Parts: sequence; C-alpha cells; structure tokens
Amino acid sequence: ALPTIAGRIRLLSERTINRIAAGEVVERPASAVKELVENSVDAGATRIDVVLKDGGRGLIQVSDDGCGMDADEISLAVERHATSKLKDEDLVNIASLGFRGEALASIGAVARLAVVSRPKGADEGWAVRVEAGHKHGVEPAAHSGGTRIEVRDLFYATPARLKFMKTARTEYAQAGDVLKRLAMAHPNIAFTLSDGDRTTFRAPPVGDLAGDARLERLAAILGREFHDNAIEIDAEREGLRLTGFAGLPTYSRGNAQHQYLFVNGRPVKDRLLVGAVRGAYQDYLARDRHPVLALFLDVPSEFVDVNVHPAKAEVRFKDAGLVRGLIVSALRHALMGAGHRASTTVAG
Ligand code: ADP
Ligand code: MG
Repeated sequence: ALPTIAGRIRLLSERTINRIAAGEVVERPASAVKELVENSVDAGATRIDVVLKDGGRGLIQVSDDGCGMDADEISLAVERHATSKLKDEDLVNIASLGFRGEALASIGAVARLAVVSRPKGADEGWAVRVEAGHKHGVEPAAHSGGTRIEVRDLFYATPARLKFMKTARTEYAQAGDVLKRLAMAHPNIAFTLSDGDRTTFRAPPVGDLAGDARLERLAAILGREFHDNAIEIDAEREGLRLTGFAGLPTYSRGNAQHQYLFVNGRPVKDRLLVGAVRGAYQDYLARDRHPVLALFLDVPSEFVDVNVHPAKAEVRFKDAGLVRGLIVSALRHALMGAGHRASTTVAG
C-alpha cells in the first residue's frame, strides 16, 4: 500500500495562501517589472524609470511621476485583492492594465517590498514596507511626488522559486523585453532602464498616438532599419481596429521573437494572433523565416476577456474568426500594395 503522506485537512494560513498565489503572478524578475510598470502606466505617469541590480534579484526599482498614493491608499495597496481600478465588478469594462489587486501583495509575499509615494499636490509622502508577507506600519517619508517601488531579495521567502532564477544577464534581458513592449504601447511615456551603473535602454517621449509618433517609438526600440522596412497597417472591421507597422518580407528574421502584439494596449502572447500573422505572410516567406512587426488591436471591452491568465498575457475573443480575418486581410492587403510599390521602384 502507498504510505499516507497527507495529514489532517486544515485551512492554509493567509501568508501561505499569498505565497502560493504569488507564484502565478510573479514568476521571475521580468514579471515583477511588468506588474510594477503597468501600475505606473495606470497611474498616469509621463515618465517611468526602472533600475535592476543583479538581474533584478538584488533590486528592482520602479519610479514614476504618476498620481501617487496617500497614507490610507498606500497601506491598502499592498493588501491582497485591494485595487482602485475595478469599477465594474462584472469584469466587462476593464480599461486599466491592472484590476486584480494581486501584484503588490504577491511581490510583498516573496520579497522585501518598499512603497514610497506622494500624491500630486500633497505636502508629505508616505512609505510602507512588507517583508515576506509581514507588513510594517505606514510611515511618513520624503518624496518629491509620484511613486517609487523597491523590491529587494526577490524570492528570498520562497527558496524553491529562487532556484529557478537564470543568470543575472538573462533575467535582465527578459525584463528589458517586457519594458520594451510596454514602451511600444505607450509612446507618450518616457522610459529608462538602468543596471544601477548605466542606462541600457532609453525611450524618450514622442507625443501623441498619431502614426508617426508610434513609428518614432518603434524605431527607437526596433531600430532605424525597421523604420525603413515597415509598412503602416490601419484597418477596421465591425468595430475592431488594427493599427501598427509590419516589416516587409525582405526584412524577415530566423525566429518569431520579433512580433509584438497588443490588445487594447496590453502586450499579449496569443496563439490566435500569432497564427493569423503566420497565415498572412505564408505566401511571402519561407517556412523558417518570420516577419518583424508591431500590431495593435483595439476592440470593444465586451469583445475580449482579459481575465484568462494570472499575468494577463493571454486573452479570449468573443469572435476569433473575426479577429483572424481582420489581421490576415489587413496584412495581405498591405503586403500586396508594398509589392506593387517595390516593383515600381525597381522599374523606375
Ligand atoms: P492592481 O494593479 O490590479 O489594482 P496592484 O497590486 O498592482 O493591483 O496595485 C494595487 C493598487 O495600488 C492599485 O490599484 C493602485 O491603486 C495602487 N498602486 C499601485 N502602484 C501604483 C503606482 N505606481 N502609482 C499609484 N498607485 C499605485
Ligand atoms: Mg497592478
């Protein structure tokens, strides 16, 4: 017979529940960076600065000039299921990047977290600290305005997860990728990433969301060559809108890691979207070649469910066929047009 490993049934403690939940939200430094930077975006920041030491294991610091929090808010912010964003408890109209109220509590459960904030116009700032799920009282703190979050010793409270950390270099690169995706979606916000000694990524603000501003931001991240080899996409069907820039087939890559896809401003890794892109390019590219592109799909909030995945990287659409059709036809149309232009240029 199998040995009995189970003990008596009992409810888990709040701290243990939080640690378990944290594992889904914060998988590695890059996921903490994603959550913190999304919070800064939701707070209306115009600049967001990220510092990562030792690949984020030593320190993750995210500073913004957003709306800030007062003493009561800062104390609630680190509690689980505390959010200022979910106006609609039916989970239909989700306009913000966050809504689950899980991120700060999760990070606080597995690391040493400090939140320092001062709302616009307030004459004092506040700080709250959480260590491995243990919250210290709110204290007054000097701060110029906005919010600064510091995460130290990520996963020190969950040694099992700590073992899965890759090298500092790999974690730093992953976090940089997350930041780049968010920077693509928000060209009006200035971003920097630094390793504590030097700034390794800088995206200056480029103003409004007009096509050119977006292309400027994409060029700042993907390079001038992308800028010179991309065609603009702008198509609409039944209330769904697809915009962005798609690389010419001649500017393809050997892997599919250069496809940046967004749904309602949210970076996603979605099979349906990736499949539609592949379908659109299949007549233009060899099987082992992949396009470089950044596509932004905007749909009415009742058309998409973003509450599928703890990290919100996957979404579900009400009508997958409509989404696929829009992407395939918009890309094909643009590629065909580009083909004509290219041959005219050669001929002329
Ligand atoms: P969510 O983003 O899902 O609401 P979080 O745990 O990420 O949950 O954040 C909890 C709350 O803390 C937010 O709803 C917001 O009110 C506040 N908050 C977090 N980060 C910031 C920030 N950078 N600026 C202002 N408020 C913030
Ligand atoms: Mg959040």
